[in-house]
Amino acid sequence: MNLHGKSASHGIVVGRVRLVQTTALLIDQSSVQNVDAEIARFRACIAKAKIGLEAVRDRALKNLGADKAAIFDAHLLILEDPELVDTTVEIVGSRKLNALAAFDEVARQAAAMFEAMDNEYMRERAADVRDVADRVLRQLAGVAVTDLSEIQDEVVLVCRDLAPSETAAMNPQKILGILTDLGGKTSHTAIVARTLEIPAVLGLRRITEVVTNGDWIAFDGETGEVVVNPDDATRAVFLEKQKIEKREKLELMTLVGQSNTSADGRVTQIVANIGSPEDLPGVRKYDAAGVGLYRTEFLFMDRTEAPSEEEQFQAYKAVLEGLAPLPVTIRTLDVGGDKPLAYLDIGHEDNPFLGYRAIRYCLEHPEILRTQFRAMLRASAFGNLRIMFPMIASLEELLAAKEHLEAVRKELVASGVKIADHVPVGVMIEIPSAAIISDILAQHCEFLSIGTNDLIQYTVAVDRLNERVQNLYDPFHPAVLRLMRTVIENAHKFGRKTSVCGEMGGSEAHLPLLLGMGLDEFSMAPTSILRSRRQLSGWTMKEAEALRDEVMKQSRSADIESILMQAEARKRNDLKGRPST
Ligand code: PEP
Ligand code: MG
Repeated sequence: MNLHGKSASHGIVVGRVRLVQTTALLIDQSSVQNVDAEIARFRACIAKAKIGLEAVRDRALKNLGADKAAIFDAHLLILEDPELVDTTVEIVGSRKLNALAAFDEVARQAAAMFEAMDNEYMRERAADVRDVADRVLRQLAGVAVTDLSEIQDEVVLVCRDLAPSETAAMNPQKILGILTDLGGKTSHTAIVARTLEIPAVLGLRRITEVVTNGDWIAFDGETGEVVVNPDDATRAVFLEKQKIEKREKLELMTLVGQSNTSADGRVTQIVANIGSPEDLPGVRKYDAAGVGLYRTEFLFMDRTEAPSEEEQFQAYKAVLEGLAPLPVTIRTLDVGGDKPLAYLDIGHEDNPFLGYRAIRYCLEHPEILRTQFRAMLRASAFGNLRIMFPMIASLEELLAAKEHLEAVRKELVASGVKIADHVPVGVMIEIPSAAIISDILAQHCEFLSIGTNDLIQYTVAVDRLNERVQNLYDPFHPAVLRLMRTVIENAHKFGRKTSVCGEMGGSEAHLPLLLGMGLDEFSMAPTSILRSRRQLSGWTMKEAEALRDEVMKQSRSADIESILMQAEARKRNDLKGRPST
């Protein structure tokens, strides 16, 4: 049987299923005689759940780092939420309902409220509420919480939805892969799986219904393809792919320490996209030449208020100091769109991607922007900082953001705080208007970084998260490529360097085209760096420019895609196995 889900973490896996079914709790609706005793029991169970959760948080801190462990601080806050606790106490008191049934009712309502939201990120927070609630319900019912740390054989974990606390508890050495019914690319399971380099396919809808413990399963974390009980021939195909993947990984590791140069010696930067200081080991392991995009919004998520200046300073300093003297490009807060933060009070928007997001929000809340600038500039004394602004649509926005930065810089200097002498400032080109006026923007900033994830969605008017129109979300669309060429040419006219930090930056198929356009820097997930380094090493500028000319002559994206895919595959085959020098 074949299933198809959402690619969440790359890698080929063939293994035995460990089906983790959280046994459904029986919730009886009986009433209680002694209301006070029942409320006391409920409070005691909350306290026990808290102790359990604190243990999970501490384990996560050890295995996954402070950033991921913060999820559980957010869970601890859910446990204290008066909406949940007080409402339950009230129901037990007024209706004499037992605490298990009362809490179940209240928690379900809270989860349903999140689930009804039309934003994917908020919908996924329902899983957090369910996770916390399950912990308390199990305490109330006297049933053990699923403990994945007990898994001792190497297995493929299959479950309906993996709660963040379960993901954090598992032993990454024993989990070959993860498959779930629910969840998507931005769910915690996906983020943690990528951090731990465990292949995962999520959102398979009914995988838990079609497999049983001990079944064989083969899957590809990149394509989302899953085969249950594969026949011998299919199994052999996956095992062969896995063998190739392993060999390739080893081969790629031999490129660590080499430079990022084309076949004829053009030096291009290949840098990393990160979301927190916890990503530094990957940045080092895959030998990035710095960080091209530090998405600071992760520091602001899964919590009830914005991080303080000091907390931000510590995070930025850890990255800058950890990578010095390599450049680290920190992006100011990119909230809104698919990343709303409840405590920032952005409110409901019919079109959040066209709404109150990123620099638009920050310019109206300068205290947030200025706090971030203070933290960044203080951290600049410890490394090589560059700052960039997301979602710039006009020159006015860039100038306004720069004014705030300058004001903060002056304040810090006046109060004797040590900061770097010079911090280059750049803009992200994510909106067609910014691409079209990139010559103007280039005269007021020091570098440009093309955010293709958004640039594509705004150029072809396709919501990047709307599954119904994903076939129209087209990274090969000639309009997108023309805009990108315009940006690079405009930047160069004014002596500015250009980077690509959207997903396209790590696309091997696009690499020679962008090289031919003269792109200066490719920024990508750390795990893609060595592949791009290898691809880069196979192209001369003359070849890349010829490919660019051929591509830019095309009218249809399908033709562009096929030209680029074939060129990349040809080059990859030539390069494979070529001894590294
Ligand atoms: C982009 O839009 O390409 C980008 C890098 O930003 P994000 O994916 O964080 O929106
Ligand atoms: Mg973006």
